[in-house]
Amino acid sequence: MDRRNFLLTPPIMALGTLAVPSLSLAAPLAIHSNTQLLPRTGKQKGPRIVICGGGWGGMTSARYLRELIPNADVILLEKNPTFWSGPMSNKWLVDIVSTDFVNHDMIHPANKYGYTLVNTEVIGFDRDKKRVQTAQGSVDYDYLILSGGIRNAYDAWFGNDLYAAEYTRKHFPNAYIPNAEMFALKNKLNAFKGGTIVMTLPPPPHRCPPSPYERACLMAWHIKKNNIPGKIIILDPKPKIGPIGEGYKAAFEELYPDIITHVPNAVVKEVDPFNKHIKTAAGDFDFDDAVLMPPHQASDMVWYADLIGKDASGKPTGWADMHPRLFTANTDDNVYIVGDSMGFISDQFGHYPKSGHVAHAVAKIVAQNIYERTSGKEVKAVLPDNLCYMMVNGDPQEEISVKFEYELDATGKVLQTQIDMDVRSADLVQEDFNWIKSRFNDFL
Ligand SMILES: Cc1cc2nc3c(=O)[nH]c(=O)nc-3n(C[C@H](O)[C@H](O)[C@H](O)COP(=O)(O)OP(=O)(O)OC[C@H]3O[C@@H](n4cnc5c(N)ncnc54)[C@H](O)[C@@H]3O)c2cc1C
Repeated sequence: MDRRNFLLTPPIMALGTLAVPSLSLAAPLAIHSNTQLLPRTGKQKGPRIVICGGGWGGMTSARYLRELIPNADVILLEKNPTFWSGPMSNKWLVDIVSTDFVNHDMIHPANKYGYTLVNTEVIGFDRDKKRVQTAQGSVDYDYLILSGGIRNAYDAWFGNDLYAAEYTRKHFPNAYIPNAEMFALKNKLNAFKGGTIVMTLPPPPHRCPPSPYERACLMAWHIKKNNIPGKIIILDPKPKIGPIGEGYKAAFEELYPDIITHVPNAVVKEVDPFNKHIKTAAGDFDFDDAVLMPPHQASDMVWYADLIGKDASGKPTGWADMHPRLFTANTDDNVYIVGDSMGFISDQFGHYPKSGHVAHAVAKIVAQNIYERTSGKEVKAVLPDNLCYMMVNGDPQEEISVKFEYELDATGKVLQTQIDMDVRSADLVQEDFNWIKSRFNDFL
């Protein structure tokens, strides 16, 4: 296997001959590929652990690795200058929390916990040499953590048509990747004067399964509060909403009966962003405006690292091929996958929910695993839990919630053992804010 992969995004890999993006992106690589960004000095006694992606998973593992392995050289590579939280970003869209609540400085936590933060884009890997290639030069590692979140797989809709993908991103942004498009969507919502908004949901697995419905509720609340003659049609590829479906159904029917229409089994067949038309398995829809979410896949960096799983027919699964209990890549146990990029875990439930709660929990477990491994201890399999609070009403503020727990069975298979759900209540709002503050205090 050739482990040197640089700048081959999945659609480009599929195409092979698409010259423009690869040529334009190749320039920094040509200039910097021989530059060692952080050469080893020989003074460092501990392992060097490089973390790619400074979001929920990456920042948490950086903190805990420094704490557990004080002589480790921990380097965090993040392309954005600041941290932007997915959790709470729906509330930010409708001004329930301010920008300062979701957007944070990253230099302070790096200094506080003692890791090296480099603002640069990861563009490739040479796993034989244990080397990460960034836009500014290469960085060598002993252990690598990939926590890059997700990519929007517009290619599933538009194939090689990059113009249609870019047009969709520009005109119908979905704001599901930190920072990108968040302000664009908020400005659009504030300027909305009426008409039909269509929201396509990605097929499972996708980032934070209950959050698109939370977004629909809060956008509907904004429409209702401002007496805007608007409607939201949720095009859902699933036959039903999922574990907290009853809570959402009640919210749609009791709070927004004239605004939200939920359409199940609406698997997208064709998207025409230019003529504002979508064909689905549940019918065809015209729209005035839209939040268009294509299928989600593991972040580009997992593709660059050549660590995407394959199904029985040899087709890419879109998600990391990894050990379900140890979080290492199946083909390279020096590489760990954390957060939303993680792949298949169990034939009972498929993937862990792609949530900040799980990313944070797995990041701590992976830090512990690397500590045990580097100190000659037995690595124990520890499993995460999941907890999500979703606001469905802005006035009075009310939320619903869902909690999952996991266990290993006698054969070592991961099982989902418990699901707890809470119906709409104002008490959950305080719990949600306590939850987010405890997480932010942990890694920010
Ligand atoms: C609207 C919305 C609401 C949500 N609500 C909740 C909620 O209530 N509760 C909950 O638990 N979860 C929620 N989530 C999900 C949560 O945001 C994600 O599950 C979580 O962020 C995953 O962590 P991660 O580290 O995998 O990815 P991220 O937090 O997205 O971090 C990935 C980081 O990698 C960086 N990166 C990517 N590619 C590169 C590259 N090539 N080079 C350098 N850096 C790179 C990105 O810039 C980013 O900072 C929500 C998400 C959204 C979008």
